Amino acid sequence: MSVLGLGTVKLGRNVGVKYPTGADGRPVPLPSDEQAVAVLSAAVDLGVTLIDTAPAYGKSESRLGELMTENRWFGGRDRWVVCTKAGEEFDSERAMSRFDFSAEGVTASVERSLRRLRIDTIDVVLLHSDGRDEWILRESGGVDALERLCLRGLVRAIGISVKSPAGWRAANQRLASTKAGAVMVEFDPALDEHRALAAESWALGLGVLVKKGLASGHAPNPAASIRGIVAEEHVSSLIVGTTNAQHLVLNAKSAAGRRGRKRGGGGGS
Ligand code: NAP
Repeated sequence: MSVLGLGTVKLGRNVGVKYPTGADGRPVPLPSDEQAVAVLSAAVDLGVTLIDTAPAYGKSESRLGELMTENRWFGGRDRWVVCTKAGEEFDSERAMSRFDFSAEGVTASVERSLRRLRIDTIDVVLLHSDGRDEWILRESGGVDALERLCLRGLVRAIGISVKSPAGWRAANQRLASTKAGAVMVEFDPALDEHRALAAESWALGLGVLVKKGLASGHAPNPAASIRGIVAEEHVSSLIVGTTNAQHLVLNAKSAAGRRGRKRGGGGGS
């Protein structure tokens, strides 16, 4: 899995997001197919293998499935680590999310993601927390459903995208016994608490995927933000969202040169 991952919120959703808007304050239009293909091609050229999507990102999963299939997955399905989520749906007409972390809801969501992405197995599925991290992990039945999907061979690794340090701690506990697990987190290298939790995840064999490293496009110095996060020993990958191939080139440069990991990760981008 590459140290730099490609986030695809903006491929499918432009309302109810925190990204900078156009000069007139209106949502930035979704990227064209040509623009999206340019980003995916750049990802291949730069050695980016991790790609992150979700049902909550509007058309992201279905556009990825279509563009990837049309382009034969740019060199093959097996070169990608595809990460998606379950538990959150975005209703674009009402500009509101709905949440369902029940075993039935999570199973149906993953089966639909497989159809939308047009693949047989998803590499990583994360529960897309709405903030109730601990309840989701311990009581919703969602993690049990993901474990059963692994046994059915439909999913390779499972986990949760959390919203708080307490949720991250609970995820480490709940996922410690899974065969292949990961947490998606916001990570600030200046915070000892984040660094300790990442070390704990790492020691338990869990992947640590960092989201929103550029503060959803508001980071004053993107290169420095990327360098600071990927330098962390216990971060597996930083997922940066972009619809701009030139930004991806710059981001890959910033992520390059990271020293070798004890396991997973790999160097360069
Ligand atoms: P982010 O990665 O912090 O920021 C993305 C924004 O930064 C985009 O607006 C992008 O605009 C801009 N950008 C990227 N590279 C840039 C560069 N070199 N120079 C200037 N601007 C740059 O925020 P995010 O997209 O919200 O989060 C990253 C990914 O994490 C998402 O795509 C998603 O896959 C995942 N995520 C997960 C959750 C969750 O709850 N699980 C929540 C949020 C995000 P351009 O398109 O113009 O490059």
